[in-house]
Amino acid sequence: MIYLDHNATTPIAPEVREAMMPYLTGEWGNPSSSYKFGSKLKGVIETARAQVAELIGASSRDVVFTSCATESNNTAIHAALKTDPQKRHIITSAVEHSSVLNYCMALEQENYRVTYLPVERDGLLKIVDLETALTDDTAIVSLLWANNETDVLFPVEDIARVCQARGVLFHCDAVQAAGKVPINVSKLPVDYLSLTGHKFNAPKGVGALYIRRKSPFTPYLHGGHQERGRRGGTENVALIVALGKAAELALKKLPTYDRTVRPLRDALEEGILGYPRPSDGRGTGGEGILNAELNGHKSQRLPNTCNLTFHGIESEALLLLLDQAGVCASSGSACLADSDEPSHVVKAMKTESAASRQMIRFSLDGTNTATEIKNVLSKVQGTVKLLRG
Ligand code: PLP
Repeated sequence: MIYLDHNATTPIAPEVREAMMPYLTGEWGNPSSSYKFGSKLKGVIETARAQVAELIGASSRDVVFTSCATESNNTAIHAALKTDPQKRHIITSAVEHSSVLNYCMALEQENYRVTYLPVERDGLLKIVDLETALTDDTAIVSLLWANNETDVLFPVEDIARVCQARGVLFHCDAVQAAGKVPINVSKLPVDYLSLTGHKFNAPKGVGALYIRRKSPFTPYLHGGHQERGRRGGTENVALIVALGKAAELALKKLPTYDRTVRPLRDALEEGILGYPRPSDGRGTGGEGILNAELNGHKSQRLPNTCNLTFHGIESEALLLLLDQAGVCASSGSACLADSDEPSHVVKAMKTESAASRQMIRFSLDGTNTATEIKNVLSKVQGTVKLLRG
């Protein structure tokens, strides 16, 4: 199997598995208990909190553990709406993850007004569109750091400054950015920021929400006093430890992430799109595959993803044959993979074309190899040829 779907999920790192194991076996106490067998786990949770905080330049106190980024995203938007119930307007974009989009659509049923900002053909967001959409009634702006389908980066610093200047709360879904680009909330005026462990080598089912110290907050899950009253529910110690360890590893790998992954991604993309062989010898060069097109901005994106349309070939047919050939890729968000809907992201970028039905996302990480990429290239070339007859 050649796994090129790291934006969907990543394998659990051996160090992470090892770190969490004691809390799935002998150390099964409840951190809220008064006796030591349980209460000593509080320290373990705080170590993990510090590790996550360090990944994003936060202070530990401002990090709350959640069950996933879907919960983090819902919680942030919910908190902002509860702060000032008079404000009934939300701004997001047409290319957000379903955990924001579908929540916003549900809120429209409760008489909230939602602006879904458009994006350009290359997936970029125009800051002027945000400025124009802001009103005195806007409760929150919720926008991605990096898109999960195209990896296109939104101008988060500009967004944060515009929101700050207008006194509007800003939530950023940084799920795909974490561990791939530096994040420093001490320098970025973001009110809420979401993460999830399974995108950077922790297991599924654990996430975090950063909440700026002075930003308003109302819990989404009411319950016990866990997480300083910001999220009820007995802590999942093993998963929290795993998230902490994964954050520590991600921070360690961050300085080399780009130079490890980018050449592999570029080789794949150049091989398919047929860019000329660069002078440093990277990539396969040559003619590439006819009628293939990049979805997303060429440079303003993360280094690990290429999202391509193969004109005339439905995504599902190509994915099926690639799967049979041992290649894991996807046609967009894994959370929507069981629906027949074309990618809402590519549709928002290229409204007129069939690109959204004929797209494939390859997302890599540092464990992929040049040999794998060569293999995938030849499998894609063969499969496309077969499907085009
Ligand atoms: N936001 C983005 C950008 C994502 O890519 C994902 C996962 O695919 C999520 C949110 C949801 O994360 P989780 O699966 O932890 O709920």
